[in-house]
Amino acid sequence: MADTKMTEPDAAAGPGLAAPVATAEGPIRLIGMDRGDFGRLMERLGEKPFRANQLWAWVYGRGLADFDGMTTLAKSFRARLAEICTLARPQAAEDILSADTTRKWLFRFADGELAETVFIPNAERGSLCVSSQVGCTLNCRFCHTGTQRLVRNLDPGEIVGQLMAARDAIGEWGLRSQDRMITNIVMMGMGEPLYNFDNVAKALRIVMDPEGLSVSKRRITLSTAGVVPMMARCGEELGVNLAVSLHAVTDEVRDVLVPLNRKYPIKELLDACRAYPGVHNARRITFEYVMLKGVNDSPADARALVRLLKGIPAKTNLIPFNPWPGAPYECSTDAAIREFARIVNDGGLSAPIRTPRGRDILAACGQLKTASVKARAPRPGAPADPVDASR
Ligand code: SAH
Repeated sequence: MADTKMTEPDAAAGPGLAAPVATAEGPIRLIGMDRGDFGRLMERLGEKPFRANQLWAWVYGRGLADFDGMTTLAKSFRARLAEICTLARPQAAEDILSADTTRKWLFRFADGELAETVFIPNAERGSLCVSSQVGCTLNCRFCHTGTQRLVRNLDPGEIVGQLMAARDAIGEWGLRSQDRMITNIVMMGMGEPLYNFDNVAKALRIVMDPEGLSVSKRRITLSTAGVVPMMARCGEELGVNLAVSLHAVTDEVRDVLVPLNRKYPIKELLDACRAYPGVHNARRITFEYVMLKGVNDSPADARALVRLLKGIPAKTNLIPFNPWPGAPYECSTDAAIREFARIVNDGGLSAPIRTPRGRDILAACGQLKTASVKARAPRPGAPADPVDASR
């Protein structure tokens, strides 16, 4: 069963979609099912276990969107699958190309909910920024998504489906990893992936399978605002790269910017980073730091950041704040960002300044909230924010 529960008991979300089993509600959704699910399905259909591997290669390796072309399977079996299963991906309600070639999809899921996925091509690689939730519970003060309530977790099929729909659109099924445009996956879209860990984990295991979508764990980065109790599991069970949204060097400032800090303060967060499984100098943790004018961008802050990260295999990523209408902050000046980067670099940490991408199509960090979502009234009975900054 797809687990649509939130990971923490105090973080209850609305129900997800139907689990990937045969139900009266509709066809079996193959996308989002793992190898175990495929095996059980073959058993129920009276097929030999090796058929699961063949189906797996067609669905996740070649990305077929219908059963006709699955020529290693008997015609009668293909017909049976077409009768009871679906390979439907999330539908692109919008597909927008930025002047800088960043591409943003607004995907609509079976129940009508929407989430965004962004493709950011670079010279040598291209990252797909994937969402894990519709909305978010965290209320980070500088984040546009944070102004939206959590609507629900995405289920494994909806998370994997974002990559599959992007591969459909770009036309890169069946390519070797070195020939693909989408080389990297970053779980940096809408939502907090560690508050939807079970679904994210199931999805990423499918994404990493070498006979399927085949994206190596070294090319996957999960970004968290700092859900400390889930970090060890993320490292142990998935082994993906970790990015941490630090954004401040004192609890006083971080409590305001990232209210989750009141639950898991900086010291606990950094202890969990030190203990992150598999972390070493060749596999550093990325500390994201949004540059906010007069809030966290002084030379003293930069020096404190160097001190704070001492002893942790770390690199930083300085993100110029992406303003949005009504945002309570401004972006630091270029000079302040450059000076901050220089101090952090001199302190021995790599400190690239992230180039804002897709600003013209609102695809930049933290802006993944769409006009269509904004326009809707809050749903009656929508779950309350479990991490309430005011308490
Ligand atoms: N919940 C996860 C992942 C989603 S946000 C997390 O907090 O890490 C991805 C990154 O974009 C985070 O570092 C987030 O703090 C940053 N971000 C959000 N809004 C932003 C904005 N308006 N400008 C710049 N960065 C922003």
